[in-house]
Amino acid sequence: MYKAKAYSASSATSPLASTTIARRDPTDTDVQMEILFCGVCHSDLHQVRNEWSGMMPTVYPCTPGHEIVGRVTKVGSAAKKFKPGDLGAIGCLVDSDGSCPACKAGLEQFCPNAVYTYNSPDKHMDGKMTYGGYSDSVVVDERFVLRVPSNLTLAGAAPLLCAGITTYSPMRHWAVGKGKKVGVVGLGGLGHMGVKFAHAFGAHTVVFTTSMSKKEDALRLGADEVVLSTDANQMKRHAGSFDFILDAVSARHDINAYLQQLRLDGNLTIVGVPAKPHELNATSLIFGRHSLSGSLIGGIPETQEMLDFCGQHNITADVEVIPIQKINEAYERMLKSDVKYRFSIDLASLKSE
Ligand SMILES: [Zn+2]
Ligand SMILES: [Zn+2]
Repeated sequence: MYKAKAYSASSATSPLASTTIARRDPTDTDVQMEILFCGVCHSDLHQVRNEWSGMMPTVYPCTPGHEIVGRVTKVGSAAKKFKPGDLGAIGCLVDSDGSCPACKAGLEQFCPNAVYTYNSPDKHMDGKMTYGGYSDSVVVDERFVLRVPSNLTLAGAAPLLCAGITTYSPMRHWAVGKGKKVGVVGLGGLGHMGVKFAHAFGAHTVVFTTSMSKKEDALRLGADEVVLSTDANQMKRHAGSFDFILDAVSARHDINAYLQQLRLDGNLTIVGVPAKPHELNATSLIFGRHSLSGSLIGGIPETQEMLDFCGQHNITADVEVIPIQKINEAYERMLKSDVKYRFSIDLASLKSE
């Protein structure tokens, strides 16, 4: 065991503060990385404040962060994928059983024994929880460490590990591509990645927004059109025309209005998690044989595929880089959607703590 510098919360009501955490020494199959950048995901805030207490209660101290990019400093004797000096990345998962049907299909995110990057019981440290990327180093089994294309800026690459794969995976699953009309609802951390991917896949990309102030940005990110969702005429003009809609809104909203935008056999996939359940009108599905789905990050093979795709198309998240000392302020700004479009922590700032 060794001590790593980190920021953690000691309770649901305390701010994140400088501390040290225990990390395991690398085993034979482990990779140890110096963390360079870690994206700030809304899930971090939810879990730091124990807002998912019903689903996954937070155990304190909690060091969040699952959008990690870093440089390999040490590898175990049986680790073959990486050598010291390589770039590496870690997303939301650090372990799984490797033997269940989901794991065998490369869908580790659906493994009943998946271990999340933070706030998950740590198989290697008795009675301890895993600690995430708001830290200067991390040790992870090399199966869960991904390669980062060398042309990507690292601060912008970090959010690909959650916001990126969360939007890439459902678009791949629902065959978004040339000749398809694709809508993205919600232009935040997830949504802005959805627009970039839909555009890169060659789809006719439409952003639904409640504020036309976002129009220029949406077009810059790759949208072909912007629809004001509060304007009944604009919504009517596009009704029944979409092959696929990605709904990335985590605030309460009417999904029926978007389901009605789908064409025959069109699909709407939800990746945002509103605190209250959606109200679904059955006719929104019945007319047009529409389907409504959810999606959860992506498995390890697909996450690597996504990173390679981003390397080929030079796609990264639009980020505002912050020192770790600004993290509590960043959470408050994130709650007000006052970020374009993701905070990325420069962990060099942790050296001075
Ligand atoms: Zn996340
Ligand atoms: Zn499994």
